[in-house]
Amino acid sequence: MAATILHHDTETEQQKLSTAEYIRLEDQYGTKNYKPLDVVVERAQGVWVYDVEGRRYLDFLAAYSAVNQGHCHPRILAAMLEQSHRVTLTSRAFRNDQLPLFYKEIHDLTGFEMTLPMNSGTEAVESALKLARKWAYKVKGVPENQAEIIVCANNFHGRTISIISFSTDAQYRDGFGPFLPGFKIIPFGDVAALRAAITPNTAAFLVEPIQGEAGVLMPPDGFLKEAAAICKENHVLLIADEIQSGLGRTGKLFAYEHEGIKPDMLIVGKALAGGFYPVSAVLSSREVLGLLHPGDHGSTFGGNPLACAVARASLRVIVEERLAERSAELGLVMFERLRKIKSPHIREIRGRGLWAAIELDGPARPVCEALMREGILAKETHDNVIRLAPPLIIEKEDLLWALDRLQTVLEGI
Ligand SMILES: *Cc1c(COP(=O)(O)O)cnc(C)c1O
Repeated sequence: MAATILHHDTETEQQKLSTAEYIRLEDQYGTKNYKPLDVVVERAQGVWVYDVEGRRYLDFLAAYSAVNQGHCHPRILAAMLEQSHRVTLTSRAFRNDQLPLFYKEIHDLTGFEMTLPMNSGTEAVESALKLARKWAYKVKGVPENQAEIIVCANNFHGRTISIISFSTDAQYRDGFGPFLPGFKIIPFGDVAALRAAITPNTAAFLVEPIQGEAGVLMPPDGFLKEAAAICKENHVLLIADEIQSGLGRTGKLFAYEHEGIKPDMLIVGKALAGGFYPVSAVLSSREVLGLLHPGDHGSTFGGNPLACAVARASLRVIVEERLAERSAELGLVMFERLRKIKSPHIREIRGRGLWAAIELDGPARPVCEALMREGILAKETHDNVIRLAPPLIIEKEDLLWALDRLQTVLEGI
């Protein structure tokens, strides 16, 4: 009975259920908007996660790059606990002593003049869209309600109604209309299409430097650099959604650095809080973020002291443990090793840093299930792509251990 179980869960001595029992409860009472692997995780440390049966797995997904710092990083945990004892939430009706330090530290790290803190990545994207529109009307002089935002096919920026309004994934939109106008979609990586899509009413171009959810899709070299130049020429804001690609994943702090550019707006999330808490932010110039006045936009939890303390520690770990550099170095090891796998089923291997996709000629789910039996947790994206994105703290020997198993599994299909 559910009541009995809830009762037991509040005791110090927990009654443990089996994998099958947890799955039955989840499937009976939970919304099935996900199709997880049938592993029930009860604890995790660093790159390793442990299930309720005591089995150990290497995490090759890192919560979609939210735990780049590794699970339960001791320094982030300490910051979270310490701040939890002091104050967790003030709302923005009052000031707190963590938010100003978070602002200063993320400014020093990234060079952006100002920051707008939010919670989930989706909220930061929503905020960036609102800001781009506001900027179009107040600064660029676009006639009211005429602002356009250009996005790319196969994008993933979240699941709110405004964001799915410009998704090209039929499933994300099915049954959720009517949709929001004001968006134009171009093929990812197509400079000519970007140029052609711009009108005097274009406010912004929103782009993932590498498309994560689409399957770690890389644009042609130089795309971002040319896009930045085109945006500048046309007085259009370049907005980089680095919620997944940022904070070390591609071997630089931000993926846009590979092309020597700087976007007008940067959206961060996921690893900004090392997996402890949802923290996201929009970073930009005073010209853009200065357009928001009291009451224009807000969030009860955005910029709360617990979130800020956790984000500060998370950023410190990324810098002090050289996670971007590690990603670059170990990424080379990973790709060299991946290219040695001999399987007629591999169509393409792509990615950057410790971020790879293996595109197969058939379903990836059975491969992920076989990897799970070998002690590796990876997840298919779309039907036929396996994404590899281990925590950036991974040791070379653990990486090679996992890649050996991956080779065995892939050469066996
Ligand atoms: C995950 C992700 C989001 C959405 O972030 P949530 O925290 O899930 O709301 C937006 N954009 C990109 C590129 C992402 O990878």
